[in-house]
Amino acid sequence: MAVPLLALALALALNGLFPPHSSAKVTPLVAIGLHRSSAILHLPSSAPLSLRCLITAGPTREFFDPVRFISNPSTGKMGFALATAANEAGWSVDLVAGPVSLPDPAGVMVYPVITAAEMQRQTDALFGPCDVLIMTAAVSDWRPKATEPQKMKKDGQGLTVELEPVPDIVTALAEERRTDQFLVGFAAETENVEANALDKLERKGLDLIAANSVAGSEGAFGSDHNKLILLGRNGFREVLGPASKSAVARQLIDVIARLVAARTS
Ligand code: C5P
Repeated sequence: MAVPLLALALALALNGLFPPHSSAKVTPLVAIGLHRSSAILHLPSSAPLSLRCLITAGPTREFFDPVRFISNPSTGKMGFALATAANEAGWSVDLVAGPVSLPDPAGVMVYPVITAAEMQRQTDALFGPCDVLIMTAAVSDWRPKATEPQKMKKDGQGLTVELEPVPDIVTALAEERRTDQFLVGFAAETENVEANALDKLERKGLDLIAANSVAGSEGAFGSDHNKLILLGRNGFREVLGPASKSAVARQLIDVIARLVAARTS
């Protein structure tokens, strides 16, 4: 008897097997609408954790006319490397990606977005069933208060664009989190890297923050290498790298698995 495709997909999803090792581009702003209890609750203590992970990556673009925007130099490499490493660890991965020029990681569900508002809607829609959220995205901190419907004409004069703050995505999610969810943020800093990152850990209600320097030509933006200072609750501190972003990503996924396991044992 033929099994209806939807039923099959649902069965795979409920077993933590969806998507089955294939990357898939998903229309933006689609909620999967599937809520299941955390997989970690049902595992014997010796089994490796099979977690559902939501990762954001890349920059956002905030338009003040149809062809002009403010953004930042994030390339999404760290977030994509984390998605690959999490998939290789056997986790189920949703990746909400701002505008980047990278191939979709194998086995990962990719949700492309452009603006911070789109990233917020998509991330909100996927947050419920996730066990681990990793916010690597360099979300724009400000956006133009208004967007002109047509391309603005040059008139030889200067231009003043009024900006408003972008709501903080991870802070809002931290306020509605379940206690079994593990929240990881990134802090791109140009100075006082650790002190600023610790402040963000507290202020944003995170479990772990990965601080990196984006100062000068050695900074993390666009580079294939990175060094992360991990800061967590109760004085947790661990340094990863400097190493390739792929290597650092694998180490970070290991650290998260360790911290989640320690919390649930
Ligand atoms: O405040 P800052 O932008 O340095 O914080 C960085 C962390 O906060 C990152 O994890 C980033 O993804 C997240 N963030 C967010 N929403 C924003 C800005 C940053 O979730 N509007």
